Amino acid sequence: MKRHEFHPIYNTFGIAAKARLFVEYDSEAELQALLKDVAGLPLLHVGGGSNLLFTKDFDGVVLHSGIRGIEVLEENDETALLRAGAGEVWDDFVAHCVAQGWSGVENLSLIPGEVGASAVQNIGAYGVEAKDVIERVEAVSLADGTLRTFVNSDCRYAYRQSIFKQELRGQYAITHVVYRLSRQFVPQLDYGNIRAQLEGVEQVTAQAVRDAIIRIRQSKLPDPQVQGNAGSFFMNPVVPREQFEQLQKDYPQIPHYDAANGVKIPAGWLIEQCGWKGKSLGRAAVHDRQALVLVNNGDATGSDVLALSNAVCADVKERFNIDIRPEVNIF
Ligand code: FAD
Ligand code: NAP
Repeated sequence: MKRHEFHPIYNTFGIAAKARLFVEYDSEAELQALLKDVAGLPLLHVGGGSNLLFTKDFDGVVLHSGIRGIEVLEENDETALLRAGAGEVWDDFVAHCVAQGWSGVENLSLIPGEVGASAVQNIGAYGVEAKDVIERVEAVSLADGTLRTFVNSDCRYAYRQSIFKQELRGQYAITHVVYRLSRQFVPQLDYGNIRAQLEGVEQVTAQAVRDAIIRIRQSKLPDPQVQGNAGSFFMNPVVPREQFEQLQKDYPQIPHYDAANGVKIPAGWLIEQCGWKGKSLGRAAVHDRQALVLVNNGDATGSDVLALSNAVCADVKERFNIDIRPEVNIF
């Protein structure tokens, strides 16, 4: 176990924030013992810090999982059941699966962060979501250290949502995630420009899809090592069909996608229409290639980013009467 007092909390936004105590544990038993030690103190569990915005230091204990390893629980001609430690780097897990011939997560290549957070965030990209492959989630209650297993339906997964982001927010440490992947590769290419990227590729394998997605992402998204960011800052709003049809009269070019409960409108388009693409407010800015991403211009504070987020949301509300909400977890 690693313990550090007044330790910086790593986050891809590059915002300076410290934890009163930062602890990385390596097993469920270590975590259970630690929870007894720190009873009464505020707790915050982090992963790789790629979806966090700190507006102040955390006056409590920041927990990080050092639980690693990928175990094959079952494998047959059709599927493989894999149990991964929450502290595994997500993209290392994807790379490992692709190399072993287990498919289903290749469209989620290069998403920053760790395995534990994949189950909290229900990460998604290019038409695939973590919920499509998660069989169950193993967790420890931060209140009393008890172990609990959540099967997929317990997790209440929805677009970028889960029970761990809603009703049980901050109440469990995820220690392992069990995924069911396929041994028969079924490519999922009907999203964005994956097909165009694969043009000329003779055999479309999971590795070829992974490579194509990595290329697309590297060309579109800012690299947090170069420019602090947390990916898409906002979720795409889903509006009632009547409201969409009304909007379409005024904006015939409005991009849209059918969703279960209405029509999804890319938040990046709404923000761009409000003139925010590439614009700064103080030390934070809206990215110049993808308006859904807010970036740190160098030495921004969390409050700078929050002020920008509030200004963007207010303009979108005023112009379109649509509420856009942050996907990023704000502390
Ligand atoms: P953190 O940001 O550290 O934490 C996220 C949340 O999970 C917090 O609420 C935290 O409390 C909780 N948490 C983390 N680990 C645990 C655990 N073990 N137990 C309990 N709670 C935990 N997201 C997408 O969905 N799709 C994308 O395509 C995508 N692209 C991105 C691109 C860039 C450049 C960046 C910077 C981010 C992107 N993201 C994307 C957002 C981010 O990568 C994901 O949300 C990711 O799952 C966060 O993982 P993390 O380990 O960094 O978690
Ligand atoms: P894009 O392809 O420019 O598309 C813009 C938006 O339109 C996306 O947000 C996407 O919604 C939606 N969209 C596009 N094609 C769609 C389809 N066929 N069906 C339904 N919705 C569609 O997006 P991008 O910014 O380059 O990102 C590509 C993928 O990576 C997206 O899935 C995006 O969510 C994901 N991504 C996520 C983050 C994050 O931090 N959460 C960061 C970067 C990229 P969805 O977002 O609902 O898919």
